[in-house]
Amino acid sequence: GAKTQGKNRWEIFDETRRARAVDRVAIASRLRQALRDNRFVLHFQPVIELGTGRAVAVESLVRLDDPGRGLLPPAAFIQVAEDSGLIVPIGTYVLEEACRQLAEWRADGLVPADFRAAVNLSARQATQPDLARTVARALDGANLEPTALALELTETVLMDADTSTLRQLEELREMGVGLGIDDFGTGYSSLSYLKRLPVSIIKVDRSFVAGLSTDPSDREIVTAVIRLGQALGLTTIAEGVEDVSQFTMLQELGCDQAQGYLLGRPQLDPPILGAGKNGVVSTAKPS
Ligand code: C2E
Ligand code: MG
Ligand code: MG
Ligand code: MG
Repeated sequence: GAKTQGKNRWEIFDETRRARAVDRVAIASRLRQALRDNRFVLHFQPVIELGTGRAVAVESLVRLDDPGRGLLPPAAFIQVAEDSGLIVPIGTYVLEEACRQLAEWRADGLVPADFRAAVNLSARQATQPDLARTVARALDGANLEPTALALELTETVLMDADTSTLRQLEELREMGVGLGIDDFGTGYSSLSYLKRLPVSIIKVDRSFVAGLSTDPSDREIVTAVIRLGQALGLTTIAEGVEDVSQFTMLQELGCDQAQGYLLGRPQLDPPILGAGKNGVVSTAKPS
């Protein structure tokens, strides 16, 4: 009868929950092993300056080279890494590796001397009391100036920042490290935090960029975000640029920089300045 059915439903529910919990424990243990085995890999997506068409930076995006499963995207493990706290050592590795790689590219003349790198920070990392020291150490270890690095945080993380986190972020900005709001427009609606936070970059979320040339409200939102960024003296970066009409419109709107599959996918190699597709990226090689 109805009772039995109800009971079965709960059993199925518990079973799913149990399986999920087991999954998470299994993923956490794989992450721990991956840290020991040095199996985290960074891919680098070019950031293009819209005024010149030149690559000026890369965003570092972590992947897990899992034995048997291949290269796993962040969506497969970041949440478990965050919940288990493993994101802290993983994030430190990402910071150090991004700095090391950037310094190597510069030394090999593969990128200009002022080329930069961005790294994503999770909530857990942002609230570490030694965040500024960890970042400073990563920069020092690679002999990079603080302006070579930008950190990306989401609106939610920034809104939740307590006094101690704020102090760390201010310290980093005072050093010259860039501070960006990632996926701008998808988090809280309050803009007041823009005033009290030491941010230097706004990244327009790719959900708005996607409809830029087809959806009038997306166009208005992107226009407003770029104007807001300009008014506050921030660098504006559009994410997820996939076609030429989006690229052209962002140029017309005065957006500073852009990233997206049109301009370059996340990859192991440095962006070859000039090898841009579709004629939108400069063909000049660095001297
Ligand atoms: P995000 O920081 O917003 O990074 C942009 C994501 O969009 C990347 O996915 C990138 O591959 C993808 N993307 C870039 N251009 C395009 C495009 O034109 N179209 C589409 N559809 N997608 C595009 P990915 O690498 O899978 O990373 C997903 C998210 O995982 C990142 O979003 C970031 O929040 C997080 N993440 C990545 N690396 C790290 C890390 O080292 N630490 C932390 N805490 N989070 C990371
Ligand atoms: Mg990002
Ligand atoms: Mg983003
Ligand atoms: Mg995003």
